[in-house]
Amino acid sequence: MDLRFATKCIYGNLEKNDKDPTGSISFPIYQTATYAHPEVGKSTGFDYSRLQNPTRQHLEEVVASLEQGVDALAFSSGMAAITALMEIFKPGDHLITDADLYGGSIRLFNNISEKNGITFSHINCSEENVESYVKENTKALFIETPTNPMMNVVDIRKMAAIARRHNLLLIVDNTFMSPYFQNPLALGADIVIHSGTKFLGGHNDTLSGFVITNSEEIAEKMRFIIKTVGSGLAPLDSWLILRGIKTLPLRMEKAQENAKAIVEYLLAEPKVKHVYYPGIEGSAAYEVCKSQARGFGSMLTFEVESRELALHILKHTKIIPFAESLGGVETLLTYPCTQTHADVPEDVRIANGITECVLRLSAGIEDKEDLIADLKYAIDSYDGYKALYI
Ligand SMILES: *Cc1c(COP(=O)(O)O)cnc(C)c1O
Repeated sequence: MDLRFATKCIYGNLEKNDKDPTGSISFPIYQTATYAHPEVGKSTGFDYSRLQNPTRQHLEEVVASLEQGVDALAFSSGMAAITALMEIFKPGDHLITDADLYGGSIRLFNNISEKNGITFSHINCSEENVESYVKENTKALFIETPTNPMMNVVDIRKMAAIARRHNLLLIVDNTFMSPYFQNPLALGADIVIHSGTKFLGGHNDTLSGFVITNSEEIAEKMRFIIKTVGSGLAPLDSWLILRGIKTLPLRMEKAQENAKAIVEYLLAEPKVKHVYYPGIEGSAAYEVCKSQARGFGSMLTFEVESRELALHILKHTKIIPFAESLGGVETLLTYPCTQTHADVPEDVRIANGITECVLRLSAGIEDKEDLIADLKYAIDSYDGYKALYI
């Protein structure tokens, strides 16, 4: 049966779904490290939970169905997923990555992958001629779209065409859009990454990460890697992410609605110099985003008139916590220059536009009127405090 998205969030692909013999509606948490074998040479299909666990497997099937992949692998965090993925490359390989990526990915590439003999060209994939950076040893393109935190939109179909021409893998970190709004595999990507900590889990309570692919060959390599490096997701955490995914469509719609309302408020606020959100009509990002995604998401970044105002806002919101992360039911404000992007070299950070005046907001599912009132209070109260900062 060809199920639609919200149904898949609850049941995965029905035909793959192992029904529990008790009729349990909630998929059981198989809290076991190991499994008894019926006899020598026979297995129930489960041998040891580093290799596979029924709860993790069910989650992997649900996520594979949402991203239209042949296989998905669940890891203990998004960074564990990306670290494991880098094991498919070898010393001497070269990767082209977008310069504006999640800070943890940049830290991994620059400090660990490079030490392992992999080289990188970090470029602006939405503006530069990506093809001119392809070398003989280039093996993959690694992008995020929209990018974190500057919300640049990269044309996935265009990147896929370049990847095909040069026999490269196209890897897309789809965390910001979630599979609800965007499916890179359907647009020509080979591998999709998620930090499941964000929208998939959705409650700011559990870490997880995913590698999803539509290639049996890559899936087989990744299965070998996950059992070897041992960073698969634990059973209880798999269950928490499964529960989060059941409400993914409802949360994404509400969070997007809130983001749009906040964007409107910020655009009218004189102390806000710039708002970065792909859903603002008239921008190049808007057109590309519209052509490849079913929505614009709930992530937005804005630049205020001074560093002092940015710090003031972070200190004076009453509802919205100042915290790292995104994609949960709680709206969060993040300060990229000292949080998510603190380890990005300063010149690169500034070149990407991540100044000390830039704040990132992940809209949650609260009442939008309360969120706007909270931001307005934090911004408006600045004038009274201004004298204290100077
Ligand atoms: C958070 C994040 C990651 C890392 O995921 P963790 O679950 O925190 O390890 C990777 N990519 C993007 C875009 C992210 O937002």
